[in-house]
Amino acid sequence: MDLIKDYQSKKDRSEPYPGTLYIVGTPIGNLGDLSPRAKSILKNVSLIACEDTRRSGQLLKTIKSKVPLLSYHKHNFKSRQSQLLEILKNDESIALISDAGLPGINDPGEELVHAARSNNFEVICIPGPCAAITALVISGLPSQRFCFEGFLPKKQSERNKRLKEISKEHRTTLIYESPHQLIKLLKDLSTLCGKERPIKIARELTKIYEETIGTTIEEVIKYFSANRPKGEFTIVLGGNNNNQEYIITELEALNELNKLIDKGEKPNIAAKKISEQTGYKKNWLYSKLHNKLDK
Ligand code: SAM
Repeated sequence: MDLIKDYQSKKDRSEPYPGTLYIVGTPIGNLGDLSPRAKSILKNVSLIACEDTRRSGQLLKTIKSKVPLLSYHKHNFKSRQSQLLEILKNDESIALISDAGLPGINDPGEELVHAARSNNFEVICIPGPCAAITALVISGLPSQRFCFEGFLPKKQSERNKRLKEISKEHRTTLIYESPHQLIKLLKDLSTLCGKERPIKIARELTKIYEETIGTTIEEVIKYFSANRPKGEFTIVLGGNNNNQEYIITELEALNELNKLIDKGEKPNIAAKKISEQTGYKKNWLYSKLHNKLDK
């Protein structure tokens, strides 16, 4: 009962409420997207935890906020957590922001929210832009059901496993990728999903040079082979609507193998990589190479 009263009395006060962690969405490019409520929170909390104090310092300067900043990122989040919980215990309020977009979506946040909730602190989100959702709603691809993959794993075997899962997914899939890895990702998707799979690539969302590129995987590969990828990208991949698994033919697998070897990869490593990607046995691929070399 006391808890409920306490909560009611907090709600009667204006934000920010004491002992509350605010997860605040910030612009992904266009400063005009910072909401009035987000501005007010960022000017009135006791402390702002952010990924990069220099970068967030610039945002605070534009809104004339004097609230102190504390770095909170993937390298220090464990040690920072107890410090931040201590501040909440003293009935202060904290805002968590990331470099851009919504904290917790491929950005630090999840662990702090978990820790705050486990310690019975209130957590409130001030919603703001999220690159994945922004890309999805303008893609024209089905948005009633979708799945978010974020960045794919770096380790090749895990990445290949994830790519295979994505290729079978019936829902629209959202992927983040850096510009220098974009063409590689598109080629991998082409191998596993087929070159006709619908795709939209959202580039530089909310910024001056914002554009959405694409129809099929084949076309976007052509486009980005002629126009070097620059800026920030979110990939919206259409689902596997034919209820079919794209079958990579033996010939396609051998072509991919030869391409890797032509690029200078050692035959046994190339065979291992293509085996992971296509499901053809490494020894079989390797033996085909040998047959070819022997002829
Ligand atoms: N938390 C953020 C959000 O909610 O949008 C995402 C952070 S994640 C570390 C950064 C990735 O999001 C970028 O590498 C890019 O793939 C995507 N992204 C961020 N801003 C973007 C933009 N303006 N246009 C397209 N993609 C963007």
